[in-house]
Amino acid sequence: MSAFDVDLFVIGAGSGGVRAARIAAGYGAKVLVAEEFRVGGTCVIRGCIPKKLMVYASRFADDFADAAGFGWTLVKPTFDWNKLVAAKEMEISRLSAIYRTNLDKAGVSIIDSRAEVEGPHKIRLKSNGQEISARYILVSTGGTPVLEPRIPGLEYTITSNEVFDLPNLPNHMLIVGGGYIAVEFASVFTRLGTKITLVVRSENVLRGFDEDMRCSVRDALIQEGVDLKTVTLPTKIEKAASGFNVTLTDGTVLDVDHVMLATGRHPHTKGLGLEKAGVELDALGAVKVDHFSKTNVDSIYAVGDVTNRIALTPVAIREGHAFADTVFGNKETMVDYANIATAVFTTPELGTVGLTEEQAREQFDCVDVYAASFRPLKATLSGRQEKTSMKIVVDGTTDRVLGVHIFGDDAGEMAQILGIAVKLGVKKADFDATMAVHPTSAEELVTMRVRTARYERETIGEEGPNAAVAGE
Ligand code: NDP
Repeated sequence: MSAFDVDLFVIGAGSGGVRAARIAAGYGAKVLVAEEFRVGGTCVIRGCIPKKLMVYASRFADDFADAAGFGWTLVKPTFDWNKLVAAKEMEISRLSAIYRTNLDKAGVSIIDSRAEVEGPHKIRLKSNGQEISARYILVSTGGTPVLEPRIPGLEYTITSNEVFDLPNLPNHMLIVGGGYIAVEFASVFTRLGTKITLVVRSENVLRGFDEDMRCSVRDALIQEGVDLKTVTLPTKIEKAASGFNVTLTDGTVLDVDHVMLATGRHPHTKGLGLEKAGVELDALGAVKVDHFSKTNVDSIYAVGDVTNRIALTPVAIREGHAFADTVFGNKETMVDYANIATAVFTTPELGTVGLTEEQAREQFDCVDVYAASFRPLKATLSGRQEKTSMKIVVDGTTDRVLGVHIFGDDAGEMAQILGIAVKLGVKKADFDATMAVHPTSAEELVTMRVRTARYERETIGEEGPNAAVAGE
C-alpha cells in the first residue's frame, strides 16, 4: 500500500493541469485534480475560446459590409449582444463538460474546491478542510489579470475576466494596455458597434512583435475607428450618473460605460501556501522551475502561466504532458521553446513565428528581409481599404529563414503551418522552390524573390545601425 493518498495532486484544471493529470493517469498513477472555478481554465472559460467566438461574431460586420461589392443587397443587419453571450456560454459549458468527461474516462478524480499546499506532500481542501497526501503535487493555477495602473477609481474597472459577460453591449469603452488582450478586444468591440478608446503607455501597441507588423495592427485599428491614444494613461476614474468619467494624462475627460484593464497577467500563486512547503517564487510571484518543470522542492512541480515562462495555452499543454512523461512515464522530456508560432486575433490578424527583424539584426551578422504589402483580392471588389503585409527574415549567411510575420486574413492559420517549416530549418531557397497556390494571399510567401533590405553588421558605425542596402 502506498504511503500517500494519491500519486499526483493537481491544483488547477486548466490546459496544463488537465493534460498532466490525464497523461499521468494513463501511466497508472492515482490522480486527483482540484479546481475552484470551472474545469477548463482561462483558455476555455474566459480566454482563447470565448475570445475567438467573439472575434468570429465581430467579423460578420465586415462581411455584411463587404457583400455589397459582390452584388448582395442586405437589410440592415442588427446585433444582439445577449444572444452572443448566451451562445458563447453554451459552448464553453459544453467544452468544460468534455474536459470533465475526459478526466473521468482517464480515471482522474475531480474535486470542486480550492486546494492549498500545506507541505511538500500535503494539500488541504478549502471546501471541507480535508487534508490529502500526495507523492507529487503539480501547481497549474494559471494567471490573473494585473490591476494596474493603480489610480483612484481602480475598483470600477473590469478585466478580461468580466468582459465576456457584460449585461449589455457598451456604447463606449476605454481599454487600457497595448498587448494581445487590449488589441484583440478593441478590434472585436469596435466591430460590434462599441466606441473604443484605447490608451497605451508607450509609443505603439504589441511591444515585442516585429516593428512593421506593430504598425500594421495599429493602422488597421485606427482605420476601423478605434481612438488610439499613445503615451497616455488614465489618471482617475469617477462614478457618473451612468457609467464613469475617466481623466487621462492629456487632460481629456471621457464618459464611458466601462474601463477595461488589459495590462498583463500575473502568476496566480497568492494564498496558495507554497511558502509553507518552501517553494521558491520569483519577484512576480511565479513558481521557479527547472527544465523539467520541477521546483526547488523535489515533490512539487509547476506548469503553465503560473511559472511565467511563455503564457500560451499550447505551451502549458506541452509542459503538462512533458511533466507526466518525465515523472510517471519514465521518459525525461523537456519542452522546446524555440520558434513558437503565435497569432493575435485582431481583424485582420497577425500571425508570426521566429525572430522579428529587430531580434535577427541583433543576433546575426547578415540579415536579409523580404517584405510585401498588398491589397488582398477580396478587397478589390469589397472596396475595403485593407492591406496585407508579409515579411520573411532570413540569415543572409546561411539562407535559413529566421522568422515569418504576416498581417492579413487567416494569418494565424498560415503561422501554424509555417511553424513546421521554420522548425525544420527551412531555407529561403525552399520557399522559392515551392510552387504557389493561386490565387491566394499566402502565395506571396513563395514569390517574394527580390530582397527588400540587407543589414550587415560591419556597416554599424559607418552608416549607423539602420544601414541597409535597400531595394536590390
Ligand atoms: P501583455 O503582456 O501582452 O500586454 C500588457 C500591456 O499592458 C502592454 O501593452 C503593456 O505596455 C501594458 N502595461 C503593463 N503595465 C502597465 C501599466 N502599469 N500601465 C499601463 N499599461 C501597462 O498582456 P495581456 O494582458 O494583453 O495578455 C496577457 C498574456 O495572455 C499575453 O502575454 C499572452 O501570453 C496571453 N494571451 C495570448 C493571446 C493569444 O495567443 N492570441 C490572447 C490573449 C492573451 P508596454 O508594452 O509599454 O509594456
